[in-house]
Amino acid sequence: MSEFAAGKEVLSYCGKCKLPLAHMIVVMKDPKTIGKVTCKTCGATHAYKDPATKAKKVKTTKSKAASKKSVNINDLWAQEIASASGTSQKYTIKTKFAVGDLIDHKKFGPGVVQALVDGKIEVLFQHEVKILVHNL
Ligand SMILES: [Zn+2]
Repeated sequence: MSEFAAGKEVLSYCGKCKLPLAHMIVVMKDPKTIGKVTCKTCGATHAYKDPATKAKKVKTTKSKAASKKSVNINDLWAQEIASASGTSQKYTIKTKFAVGDLIDHKKFGPGVVQALVDGKIEVLFQHEVKILVHNL
């Protein structure tokens, strides 16, 4: 029996009780779509909310927030290293670098030049961004 009708019982998410609970169908939108339901626990009448859909929505929101949090300097660095072309050059203050150049720094490790600032280079390393002198 998968057919619904007014007066029948259905499991719906209740916005007041914040739980999936037994509800009584009040109105059908069409023979297959439930319109309004009345919560058997709190007595509120509201639009039918599929408990499965509700659970999915919560999950999506959570994973979105998690992925937002994980975008940090380390990930950015990994992306930049992966997309940078050419071979890395050993960093010395005498070498001239350009934006997009790969740098091999003896202390900070591999990095990518992000910008030129007042004749210096802004380099993204795995754990930090450094302003370094170059082209001396
Ligand atoms: Zn309720």
